[in-house]
Amino acid sequence: MLGRGLVPAGEPVLRGDDLGVLRGDGLFETMHLRGGRPWLRDEHLARMARAAAAVELTLPPAEALVELLDTICADWPAEVEGALRLVCTRGPEDGGPPTVYATLAEVPAAAKAARRDGISVATLPLGVPAVARTGLDWLPAGIKSTSYAVSTAARRWARRAGVDDVLWVSSDGYALEGPTANVVWLAGDTLCTVPAADTGILPGTTAAWLLAHAHQLGLAAAERLATPAELAAADGVWFTSSVRGLTRLRTLDDTDLPDSPLTPHLHTLLSFPLP
Ligand code: PLP
Repeated sequence: MLGRGLVPAGEPVLRGDDLGVLRGDGLFETMHLRGGRPWLRDEHLARMARAAAAVELTLPPAEALVELLDTICADWPAEVEGALRLVCTRGPEDGGPPTVYATLAEVPAAAKAARRDGISVATLPLGVPAVARTGLDWLPAGIKSTSYAVSTAARRWARRAGVDDVLWVSSDGYALEGPTANVVWLAGDTLCTVPAADTGILPGTTAAWLLAHAHQLGLAAAERLATPAELAAADGVWFTSSVRGLTRLRTLDDTDLPDSPLTPHLHTLLSFPLP
């Protein structure tokens, strides 16, 4: 915890009136710890800084955040994959500095299994047109806020529907993102994802990294909108996120999606360990 050092798991670190708890008024980033280091750390810190500016939350200096991450990672065994979370809330209700802390845990077995085996996904309407949110200048879009009520509701819906995850679809019929993942697909020789700047989805670090390195697999990269039907007919569809990494969609609603020959190459490119 910033200003307090290492705190054993289970020991309280938040005040009951912290705005992060009361209002979900805070930001977070989740990183993949590999070789004992947070992968794409600077990209995550940059995204948090952009989000902080968007919600007028003053973050501690970047060096202090880096030191906090170094502290929590110091004794983590290099061979164990970790899920590292950095949280920054607006702090106590009556004012005061932001509450800043990090948590570190082993990557859950379910995330590794999803990476290896793929997932079943159902589409779920989000009820807004694809480009509606970015047109509202009061609404911070594409930030990783601790307000995850919509995401957790979608996850509960998925459980009730008997699928592993959901893909939100805009009211005008375009695929957007999952509650904790971006969607990436192969169209011919182009690796595609949804444009975050137009739609207000979270600009994913994993998807951005994959698209930036697609040329290493002889692929072009593009951001574009697509319907679920277009995804179902694509040459491969995956969810990407920091801890789960890359996971192929086995099914999308009632359509079985064949595994793409590209899947192992994408895993190799991302260098996520496969169990
Ligand atoms: N979209 C949402 C809503 C997310 O919560 C996440 C990650 O948690 C992602 C996309 C994937 O982003 P990243 O690859 O940076 O983890």
